[in-house]
Amino acid sequence: MSAPSADRVAVIGAGPVGLAAAAHLVERGITPLLFERGASVGTALLSWGHVRVFSPWQYNIDRAARSLLEGTGWSSPDPKGLPTGKDIVRHYLEPLARHPKIAPHVLFGATVIDIARRGLDKVTSTDRHKAPFAVRWHDGSGQEHEALASAVIDASGTWTQPNPMGIDGRPVPGERTGHARIAYGIPDVVAAERSLYAGKHVLVVGAGHSAINVALDLLRLVKEAPGTQVMWALRRNRLERLLGGGLNDELPERGALGLAAKRAIDDGRLKLLAPFVAERIEFVPVKVRVHAQLDGHAATLDVDRVIVATGFRPDVAMLRELRVALDPALEAPPALAPLIDPNVHSCGTVPPHGAAELAHPEPGFYIVGSKSYGRAPTFLMATGYEQVRSVVAEIAGDHAAANEVHLVLPHTGVCSATPATADAPEPACCGTPAPATAAAEATSKTKTPERVACCGAAA
Ligand SMILES: Cc1cc2nc3c(=O)[nH]c(=O)nc-3n(C[C@H](O)[C@H](O)[C@H](O)COP(=O)(O)OP(=O)(O)OC[C@H]3O[C@@H](n4cnc5c(N)ncnc54)[C@H](O)[C@@H]3O)c2cc1C
Repeated sequence: MSAPSADRVAVIGAGPVGLAAAAHLVERGITPLLFERGASVGTALLSWGHVRVFSPWQYNIDRAARSLLEGTGWSSPDPKGLPTGKDIVRHYLEPLARHPKIAPHVLFGATVIDIARRGLDKVTSTDRHKAPFAVRWHDGSGQEHEALASAVIDASGTWTQPNPMGIDGRPVPGERTGHARIAYGIPDVVAAERSLYAGKHVLVVGAGHSAINVALDLLRLVKEAPGTQVMWALRRNRLERLLGGGLNDELPERGALGLAAKRAIDDGRLKLLAPFVAERIEFVPVKVRVHAQLDGHAATLDVDRVIVATGFRPDVAMLRELRVALDPALEAPPALAPLIDPNVHSCGTVPPHGAAELAHPEPGFYIVGSKSYGRAPTFLMATGYEQVRSVVAEIAGDHAAANEVHLVLPHTGVCSATPATADAPEPACCGTPAPATAAAEATSKTKTPERVACCGAAA
């Protein structure tokens, strides 16, 4: 299928932020064209569909999406309820994708492989702004297609690009084999993949909420399936900070995760290995042998399975022929990167941001959603919804609306206003300084910095 018209905006990825972008485009009378590599919307969320998120529904539904849905007899979920990834897909994203103003414009099984200005390589400057974007995608059967668009919003997330085990950001020797006994992200160890983990000796590597989630799920198996053993490896021994938040966290579910992990460590159910640096991995008969430095000493661990939950990074290969500017460290747009850089902001304070901060040297091209945060693990859906509201306003030529950026996010108790130091260079999770009021508040560019809260797995 080839799309002839450039009179529409391409959106890559039908996750929560891509679909919100489509809703904002529709609201402004612009036709979206959504590409989704999966067979359904929310493909990434379905991969961690068993995980209950820590932000309640009130933060998880975009305003323009809500107003489309409200015209369809959709029943809005309880604003205080905490959905799983699967709930978000079933009760929000799927009804939204079925909306008559969106459904005709979504292509499933459509993986975008590269984007260029039609007929121009990256080097060519002449008439660049006049050429439409040419988005090339494949349909899974090996067929390549091309669609034209007047602007491109890349909301393709980071889920497909998990970070490896190596402390230097590279796979450790042996890891590249992609052996079946090593998994990335948050496998459903309790239900769908239970048979792989029950009664097994499992090493979890990583220091974010994803790793905590997996470790706590595995502890359920320890109770239910005799012989299950869990070790949790952290690169740095900064547990208090990692498990911080607790009762102070305005997203109680997130604080509760940290508290539950701490209890498990204190009473010996969860064995903590820290500081832990994996050096090499071998797949010996029926076991995974991990060679590491543990607390400064060489160690060899034989386990049945390894789960690597060390965060994610953006896939920038498809953007190679566009003039894209990315921060060299975070791989986020350069104006956004300093606002979310975990080396600088242990609290991750960030002003509300939109089209201006997300712009690239290639006019009409934007990276939004979790991909816009590059390697920073602090992205929240609510942030993405405000990004796309602003970006779509800019694309529509409504510069005033694009520049008036607002965000309402919960405060978090995991905040420390202390910048990272040499001893503690890697903040595990982010929030803002303790708020003046207990309640979440709206901010705009003209007001004080916005808070961000972290959710993803950090290395
Ligand atoms: C376990 C976990 C818990 C989280 N909990 C929260 C929470 O409580 N609150 C919160 O606000 N945030 C949370 N987040 C963070 C974040 O909000 C989610 O990751 C969210 O899904 C990001 O939305 P997105 O639309 O940017 O990306 P995604 O949801 O990753 O969607 C991207 C979509 O693009 C598609 N895609 C990728 N590449 C291509 C391509 N080349 N061509 C076509 N399609 C493509 C994917 O299949 C996917 O459907 C959590 C994240 C994780 C992993």
